[in-house]
Amino acid sequence: MNPHLLTRMQELRDLSGLVGLASWDQETYLPRKAEALRASQLATIQGLYHERLVDPRVGDWLDAARPEGRDEVAMVRVFRHERERALKVPGALVKALAEAQSKGLSAWREARAHRDYARFEPALRALLALRREQADAWGHGGERYDALLEGFEPGMRVARLSPVLTALRQKLTPLVQAIEARAPPRRLFEGKTFDPEAQWAFTLELLDAMGFDSEAGRQDRSTHPFTGGTGPTDVRLTTRLFPELPLSSVFSTIHEGGHGLYEQGFDAAHARTPLAQAPSMGLHESQSRLWENIVGRSRGFWQHFYPRYQRRFSAQLDGVPLDDFLREVNRVERSFIRVEADEVTYNLHIVLRYELELRLLRGALDPKDLSDAWNEQTKALLGLTVSHPGEGVLQDIHWAWGEFGYFPTYALGNLYSASLWRALRAALPDVDDAVAAGDLAPVRGWLRAHVHRHGFLDDAETVVRNATGAGLTDEDFISYLQVKYAALYGI
Ligand code: ZN
Repeated sequence: MNPHLLTRMQELRDLSGLVGLASWDQETYLPRKAEALRASQLATIQGLYHERLVDPRVGDWLDAARPEGRDEVAMVRVFRHERERALKVPGALVKALAEAQSKGLSAWREARAHRDYARFEPALRALLALRREQADAWGHGGERYDALLEGFEPGMRVARLSPVLTALRQKLTPLVQAIEARAPPRRLFEGKTFDPEAQWAFTLELLDAMGFDSEAGRQDRSTHPFTGGTGPTDVRLTTRLFPELPLSSVFSTIHEGGHGLYEQGFDAAHARTPLAQAPSMGLHESQSRLWENIVGRSRGFWQHFYPRYQRRFSAQLDGVPLDDFLREVNRVERSFIRVEADEVTYNLHIVLRYELELRLLRGALDPKDLSDAWNEQTKALLGLTVSHPGEGVLQDIHWAWGEFGYFPTYALGNLYSASLWRALRAALPDVDDAVAAGDLAPVRGWLRAHVHRHGFLDDAETVVRNATGAGLTDEDFISYLQVKYAALYGI
């Protein structure tokens, strides 16, 4: 490979690593008065990144690149794709979008504070117009949403996604109804508080058991948990601690730990190249969801960890049997807020958002009607009546900065996680026993071999197909839910 090209790829990974570091710091330790300074610093690094990516010499190097072997071919393909997308969007549009995003964010914050969608609508309308323009600049075959989806889930298309999500909706609805017909679990934590320091110590115990390498990363606290960092040997996780909601830190840590293991598991040979990244947000989410829900909410997992958790919180949990705790951890109920939804109802929240943003992009829904459409869909999908836009259309930050096309990646992550788990169990028939003994190494090892170390060698669905024998399907996810909740709720 052309040495100039390789050097440039490495420089760009370094710059994006520094963006990761500065953004992590912004969400954790940055002094309040440094916010404006940090915003300029980030804009400067991102500007440098763009400049060095679209540099015409890079085009010449790519044309002359003669990549050899699977890794180099994939590296050039991924890099060329990123550069072509960057080249297609005119500078004026990039600038207009950045401005519209910052206006969108502040209008959204104000609208939320006043529970008044009308205050957000003009900003959303502007963002939507710019995103439609951007989709046209990127190019598509008549479906603008495809061009946006490509930025988060390369290779995925509406024509492929819509039938999957429609079927998912049809299959989940009766399952939710069957569960809700049973008696709900009793509330175990009402009126109790859980010391944040003891919660923190337990989250570190969990990360250690998962095999998160604390010499190649760390955990800190932030308002909204996330995974970031500068590269596979420097992965930054965050969690949050609420005295009255003890499970929040547990499952945030397991979720972000799943993302973190993925980042730490990229092949060392791919370091500082475009291959040291996940091929899609959906596949990244499959890793967090697999750990959080399939492993972390399983009976085996808590057979091992519940006695340890009880010892840390004996005053709160003494006399609470494992079965009751498991039912609390797997409580299913229709609710307004996506980020608090359980694994059964969660995808209904995604279907709702996907259908609305698809209509927005197609011009079939005007932003002025969005809040009402949201409320109608909440009634239709979840049977709930929204009382104010804070628990409706204004709840998520994504549209505040015009991020359309991201939501479906959460559902894809859920579907992929169940398919990967099916294949993992077939390959490791004793895995349930290992998990129940607190040995999570087989789970991590299988994921490392079949998902993590491949990085961006292939697109997400190919990685999943190679690992499981099947591409995108809801079959594994639905049967996982049916088996699990039949046992938990006696359906
Ligand atoms: Zn996640």
